[in-house]
Amino acid sequence: MRPLTYSRAADIEDALALAAASPGSAFLAGGTNEVDLIRAGISRSEHLVDINDLPLSGIEDLPDGGLHIGALARMSDVARTPSVVQRYPAISRALLLSASQQLRNMASLAGNLRQRTRCGYLRDGVSPCNKREPGSGCAALDGWNRGHAILGTSEHCIATHPSDVAVALVALDAVVRIVGRDGERAIALDDFFLLPGDTPEVEHPISRDELIVGIEVPAAAIARRSVYLKFRDRQSFEFALVSVAAAIEVDDGVVTGARLALGGVGTKPWRARRAEAVLIGGPADAAAFRRAAAAELRDAVVREHNAFKVELAQRAMVRGLIHSLTGRQS
Ligand code: SF4
Repeated sequence: MRPLTYSRAADIEDALALAAASPGSAFLAGGTNEVDLIRAGISRSEHLVDINDLPLSGIEDLPDGGLHIGALARMSDVARTPSVVQRYPAISRALLLSASQQLRNMASLAGNLRQRTRCGYLRDGVSPCNKREPGSGCAALDGWNRGHAILGTSEHCIATHPSDVAVALVALDAVVRIVGRDGERAIALDDFFLLPGDTPEVEHPISRDELIVGIEVPAAAIARRSVYLKFRDRQSFEFALVSVAAAIEVDDGVVTGARLALGGVGTKPWRARRAEAVLIGGPADAAAFRRAAAAELRDAVVREHNAFKVELAQRAMVRGLIHSLTGRQS
């Protein structure tokens, strides 16, 4: 048994100081991911800094028309906030299709973004895994890789990022606000998730003692048309094989705006910028949507068990765009 200590931060300054004082520390919010990983022996955290007393649960409309979501806002609270439902429906829908009601009531939005991959080889604690033991290898490359990524992979890791809401947030250009001992900074959410490359154990461009304090989503008329579709082996409490966040704007039959992001296929929530570029200026019909989807998947690298994701992802993108066009959410 490993010793594990605990402290409860009174405010943000206190949280940063406590984290800085304990090199093996991690922040504790809802605990739905970190506690699981500690129990399984995957997380090496030696000290937990409980941040649940920090005033970071607010969900507010910003004066410029954007949205601020506090890092500690619970998934279920964000999902049912009227402003989110009406102005950013893909965010609400992605949250409602995540996990279970009990988990959504506990898990914080920032914790959702920072959750670790569900790759079984990382979580079994014994298989070669470059994320758990850098340099040990990747058991998924030649193992059971049906749920693994086909975009953004490297020869060192092919794990997918499991978050649903991150896919919707990346599509809508969300920004993460982070506070550390050197002050506050903002990172585009798309840049907050790193590709595995040669260092799959490095997942985010922040240090251990920096704290996410909020997520901001810019105002955008197109966001009102956003949809989130999720395809999985069962309709509840299951991660995506493929998911898509999609929004499209059309003027006189011509696509004037498009947002697309994929879940379940990338080593990070995958903004489909190549597909967006193909769509803009073209006709808003199924044939054009299929061409855009095919362009995005052109560089997919498949393994023994996950080749089906290429076709599934393309169909999901086409369906997402049609749903956005027709105002259908599911
Ligand atoms: Fe580890 Fe990534 Fe390979 Fe899974 S895919 S075993 S997380 S290195």
